[in-house]
Amino acid sequence: MRYISTRANATDPAQGRRFCEILLEGLAPDGGLYLPESYPVVSDATLSRLRDVYQQQGYAELAFEVLSLYIDDIPADDLRALCRKTYTPEVFGTKEIVPLRHLNNEIWIEALSNGPTLAFKDMAMQLLGNLFEYELARRGEELNILGATSGDTGSAAEYAMRGKKGIRVFMTSPAGRMSPFQQAQMFSLMDDNIYNIAVEGVFDDCQDMVKAVSNDLDFKRRYKIGTVNSINWARLLAQVVYYFAGYIQATTSNDQKVSFAVPSGNFGNVCAGHVARMMGLPIHRLMVATNENNVLDEFFRTGIYRVRGTADTLETSSPSMDISKASNFERFVFDLLGRDGARTKALFADAINRDGFFDLSKDPVFSQAAERYGFVSGSSTHANRIDTLRDTFNRSGMVIDPHTADGLKVALEHITPDVCTILLETALPIKFADTVAEALGRLPHRPAQFEGIEALPKRVQTMQADVTALKVLITQSCGY
Ligand SMILES: *Cc1c(COP(=O)(O)O)cnc(C)c1O
Repeated sequence: MRYISTRANATDPAQGRRFCEILLEGLAPDGGLYLPESYPVVSDATLSRLRDVYQQQGYAELAFEVLSLYIDDIPADDLRALCRKTYTPEVFGTKEIVPLRHLNNEIWIEALSNGPTLAFKDMAMQLLGNLFEYELARRGEELNILGATSGDTGSAAEYAMRGKKGIRVFMTSPAGRMSPFQQAQMFSLMDDNIYNIAVEGVFDDCQDMVKAVSNDLDFKRRYKIGTVNSINWARLLAQVVYYFAGYIQATTSNDQKVSFAVPSGNFGNVCAGHVARMMGLPIHRLMVATNENNVLDEFFRTGIYRVRGTADTLETSSPSMDISKASNFERFVFDLLGRDGARTKALFADAINRDGFFDLSKDPVFSQAAERYGFVSGSSTHANRIDTLRDTFNRSGMVIDPHTADGLKVALEHITPDVCTILLETALPIKFADTVAEALGRLPHRPAQFEGIEALPKRVQTMQADVTALKVLITQSCGY
């Protein structure tokens, strides 16, 4: 399998890179995102085999089978060992890893949030940690992961990379702005290779510092600076696996279809659903659920993709979906445009930079987003979230988190008879206890291992929003 950039034409000699070449990279050199040159199609017989594999041998073996379709530069035994090491009941809480539970007759909830940080990002990040460690050891290299976080991504990255050989994590976050639970999760890590940096400022200050360091190409090369952001192809690929596992659990035969409802921000999670659908997994609809930051819902309703400025990006009660642009969206648009790299570039590099938006409403391809690719969408407000949380609890006794509530609200708008919907649970309610308490008048259940974490000793250093200070910290920590 070879990988191409969404912005280049297929005859470009820089195209055709292998999995491990793009594993440690972010964007392609031309600014595009990597995608496989084609999606391997899973036949009916293969899907039946994957059903058996998951049911009889478990999630890790299913992951190995799916990943093998895309990775041919890691020996099969090694890849299988990496999957087995990653997807264990000890780390993810159950034998199924991503069990389904019935919400009602039409909707299943797929639990993706029982990993170490209680959000679905663990599903991919835990594998990424093991893949990175493996590949760095093979090359005899080191990597310094530099990131900015306001919550879920940073903690998932730290829990995936803690104790990994050849890797350090420098994670900036706005001082005092994460919830006490999230701060405790990140700052209580005592591993030598994890550096928590609380920046006196807001999230954008953190992001600007990270960008400034990464734009210093000499520094970046010398100190092997890398990222783990959501555009990484390996993260997306790891997420494809749970669409298969969800489908297999909800159906008894391959002629049944299901829909997925996906709480969305950067379009990473639902893009994995798109990939699974392109592979032939019988998915009816992909329901894109946004909050007030409805960049994606606007596109699927109108054909206009308009990125928001900082002032127009709202802080909401489903904060992990607060985005100004959806960084993985370019992958889908590339497919929608018949994989025309020049046109994708004209939209994402030229039109967005010039006008801040592009408009496909009058282009015949726009109708294919729904008709051919199965996308529908919707958005929620804070009031919708509170109502959905309360209603769900009153009807079923189930407590869900605010992001999952956004997904449920949109699922209910698009439900079709005879096709069941799988709602992806992207976080556990305890991570967003305040909003849950606002809706239900009581705090959500706290898993035993998180009892009292706010009181644990913290390992964090506070810093002004100062790029030089950040570079000094990296230099001193590396010792070279
Ligand atoms: C990251 C995140 C999302 C959004 O996922 P994308 O892949 O960015 O679309 C939704 N819910 C939670 C809880 C998250 O952490």
